Amino acid sequence: MDYYSSQITKLIEVLERLPGIGSKSAARLAFHLINMPEDQVEEIAETMVKTRRDIRYCKECCTLTDREICPICGNPERNHKEIMVVENTRDLAAYEKTGKYNGVYHVLQGAISPMLGIGPSDIRLKELMKRLEKDVDEVIIATNSSLEGETTAMYISKLIKPAGIKVTRIASGVPVGGDLEYIDQMTLLRALDGRVEL
Ligand code: ZN
Repeated sequence: MDYYSSQITKLIEVLERLPGIGSKSAARLAFHLINMPEDQVEEIAETMVKTRRDIRYCKECCTLTDREICPICGNPERNHKEIMVVENTRDLAAYEKTGKYNGVYHVLQGAISPMLGIGPSDIRLKELMKRLEKDVDEVIIATNSSLEGETTAMYISKLIKPAGIKVTRIASGVPVGGDLEYIDQMTLLRALDGRVEL
């Protein structure tokens, strides 16, 4: 039943499409927007549309940016021979916030997940391999410590090692707020990865 006018109902419906927004939150946001000054609502809507339209992938590292080459790849002060591989731009931002890393990144825009049908060709691996044709000292694999992250890390290391490039994996303990259900599988994966030839 349409309690409100159909326009308000429509606004609530579209807001509900956002992650983490249920019907109650959507209704609260909708009424908040309706009560805001019109120019402020316009600013929100225009920023959303403009950002969605202008954002693209960096030609070098595949992170989301509004330029052809992102500010990190375009910075000559960074060590371009050290590439940290992360799953997404949010992870890149997390490492950047530490301010302790001076290399560059490669953003996979996902992780390998056989369960979800996401294979190596569905993430930005080809682009990474292309970058490794240049002079690279080290590839630091910093995918998440989830099953998908570990699978991706193993896949990449196997892909890169024959090229003779140093490959490292960030240490991972129990992820804070991470998927605890995956820890046993992670331990198994790690054990499998660390096996020695007899
Ligand atoms: Zn870049």
